[in-house]
Amino acid sequence: MRQLAELDRTAAKLARAAEARAKELKAEDAALGVLRAELDTFTQQLKLLQARLHTRELELKTVEQQIARNEDQKLQLKSKADMDRMDGQIAGRRIEASAIESAILESMELAERVEKELNGRRSVLSEREARLGVRREKAATEAAEAAAVLARLPAERADVSNRVSAQVRMAYESARQTAGDHGLSALGGEGFCSACGTRLTPQLQSGARAGKLPPCPGCARLLAAE
Ligand SMILES: [Zn+2]
Repeated sequence: MRQLAELDRTAAKLARAAEARAKELKAEDAALGVLRAELDTFTQQLKLLQARLHTRELELKTVEQQIARNEDQKLQLKSKADMDRMDGQIAGRRIEASAIESAILESMELAERVEKELNGRRSVLSEREARLGVRREKAATEAAEAAAVLARLPAERADVSNRVSAQVRMAYESARQTAGDHGLSALGGEGFCSACGTRLTPQLQSGARAGKLPPCPGCARLLAAE
């Protein structure tokens, strides 16, 4: 009985370790999902900035063409008043062009910052993706090892105790799978199941004391007297 309890603990430990690792990998997956979404946002932002930059460059080109046209037109003018008016128009367009140039510079600086941030995040993401890949491989190896141990357990259990009948072994296996960790539970001193706290009938208590391993009505684990 003690050896069966020991094997039960080993199986429960393996199940818990596999569960913890799966949870860990899932959490890292979620974190990487957030990083990827952020990267997408930055990429979109950069695209938007580049589009705006392109529009401003076209605007600047248009204003510069207008200035060149005005300079040509000025050569055709005869009166000083007309020439002054044209100079005023050209000066206004030059101010407009310089404002567009500053906006272009600002956009370029911003685009540069976003690109830098984007590259930084990209390298962080690829680093973490690589690390996750390694951990996944390790987890798969561990899962295979655990599966091999678990596969050996029934045979070991069969060797361990000839007193444990095939029927009890089957009941134990099914109780372990139902409970998710341990297949055995100790009968508490006050007549409760120590795993789930269910109050046990006198029949169940005496069955447990007699080593019949009756299942707990609350959690399905087999009840063993300490
Ligand atoms: Zn119970």
